[in-house]
Amino acid sequence: MVNIQNLIDDAKCFETVRALRWSDGIFCPHCGSARLIKRGFDDTQPDRQRYRCHGCARDFDDLTGTVLAGHHQPLRVWILCLYFMGLNLSNRQIAQELGLNKDDAQHMTTHLRQGLEPIRKLLSS
Ligand SMILES: [Zn+2]
Repeated sequence: MVNIQNLIDDAKCFETVRALRWSDGIFCPHCGSARLIKRGFDDTQPDRQRYRCHGCARDFDDLTGTVLAGHHQPLRVWILCLYFMGLNLSNRQIAQELGLNKDDAQHMTTHLRQGLEPIRKLLSS
Protein backbone atom coordinates (compact mmCIF):
# COMPACT_ATOMS: atom_id res chain seq x y z
CA MET A 1 0.00 0.00 0.00
CA VAL A 2 1.22 3.49 -0.88
CA ASN A 3 1.79 5.84 2.03
CA ILE A 4 0.80 9.24 0.73
CA GLN A 5 2.99 10.98 3.28
CA ASN A 6 6.05 9.54 1.54
CA LEU A 7 5.00 11.24 -1.70
CA ILE A 8 4.94 14.70 -0.19
CA ASP A 9 8.00 16.88 -0.12
CA ASP A 10 8.53 18.98 3.02
CA ALA A 11 10.40 21.63 1.05
CA LYS A 12 7.42 22.02 -1.30
CA CYS A 13 5.03 22.26 1.64
CA PHE A 14 7.02 25.12 3.13
CA GLU A 15 7.31 26.76 -0.29
CA THR A 16 3.54 26.60 -0.61
CA VAL A 17 2.99 28.11 2.82
CA ARG A 18 5.52 30.88 2.15
CA ALA A 19 3.99 31.72 -1.23
CA LEU A 20 0.54 32.04 0.32
CA ARG A 21 1.42 33.57 3.64
CA TRP A 22 3.94 36.12 2.38
CA SER A 23 2.18 36.91 -0.92
CA ASP A 24 2.28 40.63 0.01
CA GLY A 25 5.83 40.38 1.35
CA ILE A 26 7.23 39.07 4.60
CA PHE A 27 6.29 40.98 7.74
CA CYS A 28 6.75 40.47 11.46
CA PRO A 29 3.71 38.80 13.08
CA HIS A 30 4.62 40.48 16.39
CA CYS A 31 4.81 44.14 15.33
CA GLY A 32 3.98 44.22 11.59
CA SER A 33 7.37 45.55 10.51
CA ALA A 34 8.73 44.51 7.12
CA ARG A 35 12.30 45.32 8.14
CA LEU A 36 13.79 41.92 8.76
CA ILE A 37 16.61 39.59 7.90
CA LYS A 38 16.57 35.88 7.17
CA ARG A 39 18.15 34.00 9.99
CA GLY A 40 18.75 30.40 8.99
CA PHE A 41 16.37 27.52 9.33
CA ASP A 42 14.62 25.69 12.12
CA ASP A 43 16.77 23.16 14.00
CA THR A 44 14.42 20.24 13.51
CA GLN A 45 12.63 21.31 10.29
CA PRO A 46 15.34 22.22 7.76
CA ASP A 47 12.88 23.85 5.33
CA ARG A 48 11.30 26.16 7.90
CA GLN A 49 12.80 29.63 7.33
CA ARG A 50 13.54 31.78 10.38
CA TYR A 51 13.56 35.59 10.43
CA ARG A 52 14.73 38.31 12.82
CA CYS A 53 12.67 41.48 12.94
CA HIS A 54 14.51 44.82 13.07
CA GLY A 55 11.42 46.58 14.37
CA CYS A 56 11.01 44.66 17.63
CA ALA A 57 14.13 42.44 17.59
CA ARG A 58 12.04 39.29 17.94
CA ASP A 59 12.35 36.11 15.92
CA PHE A 60 9.65 34.41 13.94
CA ASP A 61 9.41 31.80 11.19
CA ASP A 62 7.14 30.70 8.35
CA LEU A 63 4.60 29.18 10.73
CA THR A 64 4.65 31.64 13.65
CA GLY A 65 1.16 32.85 14.46
CA THR A 66 -0.62 30.24 12.34
CA VAL A 67 -2.43 27.12 13.49
CA LEU A 68 0.38 25.16 11.86
CA ALA A 69 2.90 26.25 14.48
CA GLY A 70 3.66 24.42 17.67
CA HIS A 71 1.96 21.14 16.93
CA HIS A 72 3.58 17.76 16.89
CA GLN A 73 2.42 16.87 13.37
CA PRO A 74 4.78 17.71 10.52
CA LEU A 75 3.66 20.35 8.07
CA ARG A 76 3.01 17.82 5.31
CA VAL A 77 0.35 16.17 7.47
CA TRP A 78 -1.43 19.53 7.84
CA ILE A 79 -1.16 20.21 4.12
CA LEU A 80 -2.56 16.76 3.31
CA CYS A 81 -5.31 17.30 5.86
CA LEU A 82 -6.25 20.55 4.07
CA TYR A 83 -6.21 18.73 0.77
CA PHE A 84 -8.51 15.98 2.03
CA MET A 85 -10.83 18.56 3.60
CA GLY A 86 -11.04 20.13 0.14
CA LEU A 87 -12.18 16.74 -1.17
CA ASN A 88 -14.84 16.63 1.55
CA LEU A 89 -13.44 13.56 3.22
CA SER A 90 -14.80 12.81 6.68
CA ASN A 91 -12.56 12.99 9.76
CA ARG A 92 -12.61 9.20 9.85
CA GLN A 93 -11.43 8.95 6.23
CA ILE A 94 -8.75 11.61 6.80
CA ALA A 95 -7.54 9.73 9.86
CA GLN A 96 -7.31 6.54 7.81
CA GLU A 97 -5.41 8.18 4.95
CA LEU A 98 -2.92 9.87 7.24
CA GLY A 99 -2.54 7.05 9.74
CA LEU A 100 -3.85 9.18 12.59
CA ASN A 101 -6.42 8.29 15.18
CA LYS A 102 -9.83 9.89 14.69
CA ASP A 103 -9.43 12.29 17.61
CA ASP A 104 -6.20 13.68 16.15
CA ALA A 105 -7.83 14.12 12.75
CA GLN A 106 -10.81 15.87 14.28
CA HIS A 107 -8.51 18.11 16.31
CA MET A 108 -6.67 19.11 13.15
CA THR A 109 -9.72 19.79 10.98
CA THR A 110 -11.25 21.84 13.81
CA HIS A 111 -8.06 23.88 14.08
CA LEU A 112 -7.89 24.36 10.34
CA ARG A 113 -11.52 25.46 10.08
CA GLN A 114 -10.98 28.00 12.86
CA GLY A 115 -7.62 28.93 11.41
CA LEU A 116 -6.12 32.26 10.64
CA GLU A 117 -6.34 34.14 7.36
CA PRO A 118 -3.35 32.43 5.69
CA ILE A 119 -5.00 29.08 6.26
CA ARG A 120 -8.28 30.21 4.77
CA LYS A 121 -6.29 31.26 1.72
CA LEU A 122 -4.76 27.80 1.63
CA LEU A 123 -8.19 26.20 1.78
CA SER A 124 -9.66 28.33 -0.98
CA SER A 125 -6.80 28.11 -3.46
ZN1 LIG B 1 8.68 42.85 14.87
